Order: sequence, then C-alpha cells, then structure tokens
Amino acid sequence: MKGKVYIVGAGPGAADLLTLRAAAVLRVAEVVLHDDLVSQEVLEMVPHDAHVVNVGKRCGHRGITQELINALMVGQAQCGKRVVRLKSGDPAVFGRLGEELDALRKAEVPFEIVPGITAASAAAASANVTLTDRRAASSLVMLTAHNARQAPLSESSVDAAHATFAVYMPGPDYGRTARELIKLGVNAGAPCVLVSHAGRATEKVHATSLSALGSIAGVAAPAVLLVGEAVRTGEISRPVQSALVEHSSNTRSQIS
Ligand code: SAH
Repeated sequence: MKGKVYIVGAGPGAADLLTLRAAAVLRVAEVVLHDDLVSQEVLEMVPHDAHVVNVGKRCGHRGITQELINALMVGQAQCGKRVVRLKSGDPAVFGRLGEELDALRKAEVPFEIVPGITAASAAAASANVTLTDRRAASSLVMLTAHNARQAPLSESSVDAAHATFAVYMPGPDYGRTARELIKLGVNAGAPCVLVSHAGRATEKVHATSLSALGSIAGVAAPAVLLVGEAVRTGEISRPVQSALVEHSSNTRSQIS
C-alpha cells in the first residue's frame, strides 16, 4: 500500500456510516488531506502520528488552490507515503474529483477511489423518504443551487414533474433556489425536505413545500434539499399545507 493515493468518501459525518474499506484505509494513513466538511469523529480514526492537513477552502488554509492540493497529493505519494484524500460524502459528487484524477494520472501516481454515502442518500434516510419511486419519480437529478440558478436543465429531457431533485449547497437564499426549480418545471406545491447535518447527531429535517421554502430561516450548514413527489412525508400529505414542519429525525442508536 506504499506510495499511493486513496481518495476516500467520508460520508455525511458519523463514523459508523463509513464503508469498511474507508475505515481500513484511514487506520493506516500516513498523510491525510481533508476537506472542511469532514467530521471530527471521522478524523479521530486516523493514526496519531499521521500528518493531517485541512485543505478545505473555508476553515482550512485560506487561499489554498486546487493546484496546491494536487501538488501536495502527488508529491507526498511520490515520497512513498500512503496518502488519503478525504472528502465528505462521496468523492465523485461535487467534490472536484475530476481535477484531482487528472493530476494523479498525469503524474502516474497509483490511486484508488473508495466511495462514500453522499448527502442526498443520508438526507433521504434522515427524513425517512425515498429518492426514487416507481409510482412518482423515475429520475434523480443531483445539482448544486448554483447550477439551479443557471437553469441548466431547462433544455434537458428530464421530466421535472416526475423527478426527484437533490440540491447540494441550496442556501442561503432558499427562495431563489425554489424559484429556479419552479422555472425548471417543478410544481410549486411539490413537497420538499431540507436536511441539515444529515447523518450526524445534530441533524434536522425541515419538511415543507417548494413554494414555502423561502420562509425557512436559520438552517445550519451543511444542508441538502430534496424536492419531488417521492419525498412527500406524512406531515405534508395535503398539498395546500404550507406550514413549516420541523423535527429532529430518529437518530441512529445502538442496533437492537
Ligand atoms: N461530496 C459531497 C458533497 C460536497 S458539496 C457528498 O457527496 O455529499 C458540499 C455540500 O454537500 C454541502 O453544501 C451540502 O449541500 C451537502 N452536504 C454535505 N454533507 C452534508 C450533511 N451531512 N448534511 C446535509 N448536507 C450535506
């Protein structure tokens, strides 16, 4: 396992939502380069003598560039280190994986990708809903609010009325995100759940409709928004109801 980069999905935060492979790789890491959203609980699995660097853009090194991250990753592997590039959720979902793979391939550094549970999956589990439903949603679209604002799907073949949208980075202007989704053809009355801190002890599920989404305030980041008929929950079974329902979901405890 020497001189190799492991690009590992850290999942939504709880250590017991890591894959067994991710846990095994973390336990033998020599260098760990992680993003801001990777939880302390997961970082605690890394050996004490490992060199751990937060390369996140917010809490980590201010002004750190993607090029610098690539150079660190490649350089440490070329020194013979077992490097873990640790990303929240699944590395292949809004994680700049493409740029890092380009750098690794160019430098001919051996690598392995270890998938993780993405925020949309964790959020659906927190809200006790499904992402697809053969009766209501035959497609699942993952997008960022940034892309939603640019309406990238307006010319696509996705049938917005029969799709589930998982919107990453949906805030802080939820009203705007809702308007853009409506522009894409999503029904204003469509049910949605906004899940913050999915898969963590601090998780919160807000169930509402798209038209009422703008009135949501004070949602702790990170949060992901799920929209569409498939995510309809008991609280919003009547389409006219617009009141915000907030509940802490059943947190996972010991398996009984
Ligand atoms: N690769 C990650 C996504 C990184 S983009 C994944 O697969 O989940 C960062 C965005 O992901 C956040 O702004 C938020 O929208 C979402 N996110 C990440 N972790 C989350 C969590 N525990 N709960 C809710 N949303 C989360």
